[in-house]
Amino acid sequence: MAASEFDIIERYFTWAPSGRREIVLGVGDDAAEVALPAGARLLLDVSQIREHQEFQRGDDAGSVAHRLLADAAVRSAARGATPIAFTLALSLPAPDAPWLEGFSTGLADLARTHDIALIGGDTTRGPRSAVLHMHALLAPGIEPLSDRNAASGDLIYVAGRFGDAGLAVLHEAGELQLPRRERQLAEQALRYPVPELPAAGVIAGLASSAAAIRQTLAKDLEQLLTASGCGATIQVQRLPLGAALHANLDRAGGWNVALHGPALGQLCFTVPESAQVVFEQRIAALGQVCTWIGMVERNQGLRYVMDDGSEL
Ligand code: ADP
Ligand code: MG
Repeated sequence: MAASEFDIIERYFTWAPSGRREIVLGVGDDAAEVALPAGARLLLDVSQIREHQEFQRGDDAGSVAHRLLADAAVRSAARGATPIAFTLALSLPAPDAPWLEGFSTGLADLARTHDIALIGGDTTRGPRSAVLHMHALLAPGIEPLSDRNAASGDLIYVAGRFGDAGLAVLHEAGELQLPRRERQLAEQALRYPVPELPAAGVIAGLASSAAAIRQTLAKDLEQLLTASGCGATIQVQRLPLGAALHANLDRAGGWNVALHGPALGQLCFTVPESAQVVFEQRIAALGQVCTWIGMVERNQGLRYVMDDGSEL
């Protein structure tokens, strides 16, 4: 796409310079340059999405970009690191202004909100796809968190709210009619999920394990526990619900929507009992909301318990 490549970069991917002092050189130079504070380390991570696979032609391009960046950023956060910069390799069959406009806006909005800088990339002609390389800063002295190190007796927490995206899926499938306001909330949660990035500052160096939710809370939590060789009991009614599901819980079929609906960008993690007090203090100090939902146990498998003691 030689002739128009520079136009595309200039028009859609050259943003106002990031205020991040780590970024020395960004878009426009032959290579980007990132300066790390003494003792800090970078966690690098790559995500690729392709048309017909991870997204479809008719999908809202802003949402496609938002979800790509949100997912990449939260995965770094789940390692206890702060996402600071990313590169983007974009391939398109032909310059496509409406799609590029939507994609770059979705990307820039989220990047700006969380101060993650776009520092470079490549733009080529080919099947519609994007590759995003995330660079996340691990503070000096902090070890990256594992997604397989939960131990029996640890407390299980989540960051985020659950169920609204699942409600949108039910609505889109025609299984449920929602009032306008709640439909908007639900669709927003599905298409533009708010990534739980500030939680990284709370869990770094304290949690025993953490996982970014990419599918559903139930699936990703089960994966974390299985990889750790443990199981858990979850107090279902402690789950923080999105506002739309909260208002429609009975009609939507109850708590299953929160457990088994999509929850991209939310976070689940485990905290050893010995670290609980420090952890709760840090949550309060940072003004974050993390919710305790259950305990890690030696018995494999997940047990979902309601307040009255019955199993879900
Ligand atoms: P080169 O001529 O060396 O191949 P490019 O033309 O690919 O360089 O890119 C010019 C500049 O624009 C580089 O700084 C590159 O990192 C940046 N860039 C290219 N494509 C993108 C993109 N999709 N998003 C962000 N930056 C990009
Ligand atoms: Mg190029």
